[in-house]
Parts: sequence; C-alpha cells; structure tokens
Amino acid sequence: MNAMTMSSETQEERGNSILPCRFCGAALRRTFVDLGMSPLCETYPCEADFGRGEMYYPLHVYVCDECFLVQLESYESRENIFSDYPYFSSYSDSWLKHSENYCSHMIGRLGLTEKSFVVEVASNDAYLLQYFVRRHVPVLGIEPAANVAKVAIEKGIPTLVKFFGAELARELASEGHCADLVLGNNVLAQVPDLNDFVAGLRTLLKPEGILTLEFPHLLRLIERNEFDTIYHEHFSYFSMLTTVRILDKHGLRVIDVEELPTHGGSLRVYACRRESQTHAVEASVREVIADEERAGLNTTEGYGNFAGHVKETKIALIEFLIQAAREGKSVAGYGAPGKSATLIHYCGIGKDLIRYTVDRNPYKQGRFLPGSHIPIYHPDRIAETKPDYVVILPWNLKNEIITQLCYIREWGGRFVVPIPRVTVC
Ligand SMILES: [Zn+2]
Repeated sequence: MNAMTMSSETQEERGNSILPCRFCGAALRRTFVDLGMSPLCETYPCEADFGRGEMYYPLHVYVCDECFLVQLESYESRENIFSDYPYFSSYSDSWLKHSENYCSHMIGRLGLTEKSFVVEVASNDAYLLQYFVRRHVPVLGIEPAANVAKVAIEKGIPTLVKFFGAELARELASEGHCADLVLGNNVLAQVPDLNDFVAGLRTLLKPEGILTLEFPHLLRLIERNEFDTIYHEHFSYFSMLTTVRILDKHGLRVIDVEELPTHGGSLRVYACRRESQTHAVEASVREVIADEERAGLNTTEGYGNFAGHVKETKIALIEFLIQAAREGKSVAGYGAPGKSATLIHYCGIGKDLIRYTVDRNPYKQGRFLPGSHIPIYHPDRIAETKPDYVVILPWNLKNEIITQLCYIREWGGRFVVPIPRVTVC
C-alpha cells in the first residue's frame, strides 16, 4: 500500500468550506489523517439511551501549512463535553505516582513553601493538588466539570468551578491571586480558544513565576502510530516547535522541557514570562526541537506517512479479531478509556468481535461504549468468564494492567496490545 495516498488530497477536492487554523488563522488545506466518523468518546450510554440515537462527528485531522499545528474542528461546545465529565484521574495508580513525583520535584526546584501559591488549570478531582496540600503549599484548582470539582471540594481542596481563559485570569490577578507555579496537565489539547487560554496562563503568573504544561508529544504520536489518542475532545496536537511559537506569541519563553513516558510519550514544558531575568534556557529545549526537525516536523513532508501506517494497523487488528472468531476464541477488552472510541470506530469493531470490556471506574460499569454498545463491566468479569484474549485498550498503561491481570495465564489467556502494532503476549 502506498502510504502517501491518504494524505495528499486537498480541501478543494472534498468540496468543504475551509477552516482557519486555531492558532495562526491560516486556511487548513492539508489532511493529516481522516479517521472517519465517530461518536463523542467520553459519553457512555445506558441501555435506556439506546433508542435515542447518538451523534457521530468527523474525525478529520488537519495540519496547518503555516504553523504546523495538527488540529481537529471542535464540533461540540465545551459546555456539552465537560459539564458531566466521567473521567476521574484518581483511578489510575501510575498516574497518581506520576503526580506525586511532579509535586516533590516542583517543591524542590522552585523552593515552594507555605507562602507560595500554586494554581492548576483543569484540576480534575484534585488528584495532583492533594500532594501540594499535604506539603502545606497553598493551592487553587480550576475545574469546569461540576461533578468532578465537587469531589475535590469535598476533599477540602479549594476549587473554582469555571472555564479558564483570559477573562478569569484577569479577575484572579486583580484580586491578587497570581501564582508562583501555574500548571496545566493534559488540558491544552482540549481548549477550543487556544490563544485566549494561553494569554490567561501568562496573566496568572507572578513576574518570576513558572508555568508547566504537559501534553502528549506529537512526534511520539507519529512515530508510535498512536492514532487512537486522536478524538473529538482533543482539538489540538502539539510539537515542541509549534508550542514554542504559541507561547512566544503570548509573551512566554520556554526554558526547559522533559520527555515523559505518560500517555504514550508526553512533554513537560517549563515557561516563564519573556521579561523574566532569573530563568536560563536549558539545552533540552534545543535538543527536542532538533529531534523534531530530524523527523521533518518543520516541513509538510514530516506529516505525510502517518495516514498509511494507521490504515495498516486497522487491517492487522481486524485480521487478528476475525481469525480469533473463526477459531472460536473468546475476546474481551480491558478498560474503557476515551481513546477506545476512536480505535473501535475507525476499525469497525462491534461486540461480535470484542464481547465486552471492563473498567475500574464505577461510573462506567453497567454502561456501554459509545456507538458500538460494547458493554462495560466490573473487572471481576474477566475471572468469571475466562476469555482467551484480553485486548488492552488503554495501551499506555499496559505494564500495570498485565501485572494486575496476570491470573489470566492460569487458563491460557493472552493479552493483545493494539498499538503501535498488534502484539499478542
Ligand atoms: Zn496555523
């Protein structure tokens, strides 16, 4: 198969109206990958919802020819997506450990004390801020999903139930609530108005304050074929090159970057106000940019082969599942993460090929994956039904899950990891 065939069509050939780039406003003419139609991934219908139908939206991803921001049109309003958001970060052990390590690291690096102030944007259920609070560092969480923020407030973590943007930042700054540390983990991708959001981050910083942002690294998404991390709630996909440009436009200077294993390969970018005198730029920034330039991410060619690799993965996964079905083997899933919706819809998988999945999150148990209506059960279901194969849908947590589920070996069960390529182990 020619990997270039899916990526070179132009906007004119599709006959759609041309969208502007979310960051720089240039016309989006180049397809990065077209994953077809998919329902919103963070909706988990109950049986009673089946008769009402579900909305499907295109997962057509563009890359901007000017700034190379990889992006998706935002179809749903942020209010619809985030008003009753079922994701509770506290349910992953490895994510909690990652968060605790971050807090210790930042307390040491910035010398944070009980006189400092930390603000987290999109603070979820305060799974991260709790570690600052334990070390007596004052915090404020900002979380728009009321049901999630409620959990944080009940734990005693100060939390504003609001959307973050330039206006809220100005309000907080005028009340004297600027921060020594502002952090945003896995939120930048979910921001429809990117420029307004980043402007707000700068406003919220004290003159010598530090901003840290974590987000999945586009370079790894491309290299490791992580196409299922593309879904409607993630509007933007960032390289270091583009991130530096975005922060620079809003008066922020990137001073350091760390590469993290989370979410299939993430970046943690450190930035300060451009006029700050105290923070030197580390060599890491240049090194990550050099990696991206080697992969061609500063040219349109660097984005050209991805769509072909994605299609090959689809064919391999369907082939495996059909073969298992022909042999009379039973296949279950593990996990019901947001990204499973993309994988399942793009590959056209139904409950005839994966009978059910399980998830530790009680909110999802008894519900169904969107669109495919694959049922979601408590993890005990696996021991009860002894499937021949367990497909690990949150493959970024595969080591943790394989350890937790090692008992499937007792009946000869095996794990299937779909990404970067279908592997049975
Ligand atoms: Zn652009």
